[in-house]
Amino acid sequence: AGAASLALILTACGQSGSGGSKEKTGDVKGATIGIAMPTKSSERWINDGTDMVKNLKAKGYKTKLVYGEDDPSTQVSQIENMITQGVKGLIIAAIDNKSLNNVLQEAAQANIPVIAYDRLILGTKNVDYYASFDNEKVGTLQGTYIVHRLGLDAGKKGPFNIELFAGSNDDNNTQYFFDGAMKVLQPYIDKKELVVKSGQTKLNQVTTLRWDGTTAQKRMEDILTASYKSGRVDAVLSPYDGISIGIISALKSDGYGSGSNPLPVITGQDAELASVKSIIAGQQTQTVFKDSRKETAVAVTMVDDVLHGKKPQVNDTTTYTNGAKVVPSYLLQPVSVDKTNYEDVLVKGGYYTESQLK
Ligand code: BGC
Repeated sequence: AGAASLALILTACGQSGSGGSKEKTGDVKGATIGIAMPTKSSERWINDGTDMVKNLKAKGYKTKLVYGEDDPSTQVSQIENMITQGVKGLIIAAIDNKSLNNVLQEAAQANIPVIAYDRLILGTKNVDYYASFDNEKVGTLQGTYIVHRLGLDAGKKGPFNIELFAGSNDDNNTQYFFDGAMKVLQPYIDKKELVVKSGQTKLNQVTTLRWDGTTAQKRMEDILTASYKSGRVDAVLSPYDGISIGIISALKSDGYGSGSNPLPVITGQDAELASVKSIIAGQQTQTVFKDSRKETAVAVTMVDDVLHGKKPQVNDTTTYTNGAKVVPSYLLQPVSVDKTNYEDVLVKGGYYTESQLK
């Protein structure tokens, strides 16, 4: 078949033969899919990697799974190596959303489809699909939880003191999480029913490079020293369980967590084991569960579909613009988890066993 008829077949399948879309290149059975994950320092990415491999193997693929140790240049060279080794598809959870342009250009030249996993990759048209959660909703769940636990939604007036933490500034999700939370919190801040005593309310004042718990702990300590000589912290917006752990350490060192001085309401994300235990023990208050089993299944189906010349199912084609294109996305729904529903969501849902949580 000539190029023209190939283009026709691809168009009929909803693919286009040019402009960055990937052509079906013969039999993909037994092909290797490269999976680039950000770090092993967080349990969630370990789970994602394991699930991804399982799902891909079930579809007959070989896999190459790498972790970038939270170092953008390591991730770039890992992806480069996988391209050289001849992977037929790439699933990437970016460390730095802007550092992958060159290497993804190489992927495009080698006709390798790229799925952005969980975190959108910015500034390049060489990203085919995006598998993630509704990231703004994650923040909305955190903000709504705080407002509810403080009783503000039931008419309590406060004022309550709150401090705000956000994720890494090179992760595209960070802005979405923060915006989602602030849409709920800002009206109460405006009414002075929530007060940020540190005065740090802008995203660039509250980010936490590479989501590092120790960095967050240090910032919380500094805030307590500088702004809480009097008064107490009633709530902390934390975007991620590892950050919540750091915040809780700082608060405990400052005397919080004893009978007359309870810990504030503290949110989180990922339902990592240590944090679910912390929730059960009454320390962290809430987390946002994002079922990695579902997210990995979406990404694997996407890459499999593309390699078979099929158009993957998406449910959002407007939200995630990456500066070069709108990346067609499939977004899953996050779930707020606290002491009252962890059994239902996490244990009955088969994510953890009861004995893991002991
Ligand atoms: C993910 C979160 C995770 C965070 C830190 C974000 O991009 O969406 O689930 O908590 O990275 O690893």
